[in-house]
Amino acid sequence: MGKLLICDPVDTGAIEEMRAAGIEVDVRDDISQASLAEIIGEYEGMVVRSRTKVRQDILDKAESLKVIIRGGVGLDSIDVAYATSKGIDVRNTPEANSNAVVELVLGMMLALARHVTVADQSMKAGKWEKKALKGTEITGKTLGIIGYGRIGRMLAEKAKALGMQVVAYDPFVEDPDVVSFETLLASSDYISLHIPLTEQTASLIDKDAFAKMRRGAFLIQASRGGTVDEAALYDALVDGTLAGAGLDVFSAEPPEGTLLEKLIGLPQVIATPHIGAATAEAQERVGSEVVKLAKAYFA
Ligand code: NAD
Repeated sequence: MGKLLICDPVDTGAIEEMRAAGIEVDVRDDISQASLAEIIGEYEGMVVRSRTKVRQDILDKAESLKVIIRGGVGLDSIDVAYATSKGIDVRNTPEANSNAVVELVLGMMLALARHVTVADQSMKAGKWEKKALKGTEITGKTLGIIGYGRIGRMLAEKAKALGMQVVAYDPFVEDPDVVSFETLLASSDYISLHIPLTEQTASLIDKDAFAKMRRGAFLIQASRGGTVDEAALYDALVDGTLAGAGLDVFSAEPPEGTLLEKLIGLPQVIATPHIGAATAEAQERVGSEVVKLAKAYFA
């Protein structure tokens, strides 16, 4: 039986379960890329989250590697084509995080609609600005979902239960909710992105897209940094095209540079540090999926 290297934090219960199944597990969950390159040759399996990058430099040293298990969904941190060409399987746990992301998105929408973060800051500054904090309701509003995959469709189901109308844009999905990109932009009060970062989706939401949106719309970005042009987003927020935005992912993480600083500093922006999947339940689900995959290869 081969050895498995855990390169990023994984639920401790899952690690115990893998060991109980007889898998030799080494936990180095804050390993640097340089140290990883030195030791990866000893391992037949590796478990990564989004932090560890598995590109050609690592894969060239991974002489015994048979499987890369990605706890989570995004595979942009792994050179999948190169791994596959070397006979290494790449597996992920796509379902485990969906509900956690959906609940963060709904939380952001409700918080934006009712100025929750602005009201909280104002109270903490000793103010009582009841009149200035009139909000809106999400019931009856239209939610435009870009990317109608696992997360997009789960969000639709829950948003409909809250009385929202849903339209979606996804060139690869057939569904009665799907409309054209232009129709979605023009008809949505809230727009939420649930797409991967690809050549086609890079800066999909740019200056032109903002120009086609309803004035006073809200944007939620909890998909992948790079799919929204952040300079255009900043302008759209400042000129009132958008009434607010909820941002969980950024082109640079942690954010750096004055543009991102200014964007995050706007009062009508709610920013969170890529915590879409960061719930106890999602981490447990990711852990148990990782265990299943590890057992299939090693037990
Ligand atoms: P998924 O693969 O099930 O769905 C993605 C959808 O995007 C697919 O239906 C696909 O057809 C569609 N798509 C691809 N190209 C498109 C384009 N050009 N225009 C419109 N749609 C397009 O993935 P998912 O599990 O729903 O995850 C969606 C995104 O959320 C991923 O990028 C993932 O990395 C991200 N994510 C973020 C967090 C977080 O912590 N914020 C957590 C989990 C996932």
